[in-house]
Amino acid sequence: MKTMTKICQECGVEFGPTRGWDAAFKARTYCSTQCHGAHVKRVSRANLIEDVEWIVDHDHPDSVAERVGYKDGRSLRDRLYDIGEPELAEKLSRNLERYRNCVEAS
Ligand SMILES: [Zn+2]
Repeated sequence: MKTMTKICQECGVEFGPTRGWDAAFKARTYCSTQCHGAHVKRVSRANLIEDVEWIVDHDHPDSVAERVGYKDGRSLRDRLYDIGEPELAEKLSRNLERYRNCVEAS
């Protein structure tokens, strides 16, 4: 019988079933949990960027942060720098400044 293999969607490596052709293998699209983890991480990063871009200019940075699961605008900004989105981080930073000035002026 011909061995069935699949191509990992993350790294492109060909992989075969470790315990035979079963349902678990049939459902798998990644060669390893590591590859699957990398995929999940990338998706959530993309989602985060998309969400922040969408609301960053319409809400207080702390509210923006809360909506995407971060404690406050500052921690979200740090996270954006971490994941390589300095432009978005600076935008958030500018808004933080702007709102702070507003509070001080009023
Ligand atoms: Zn892989």
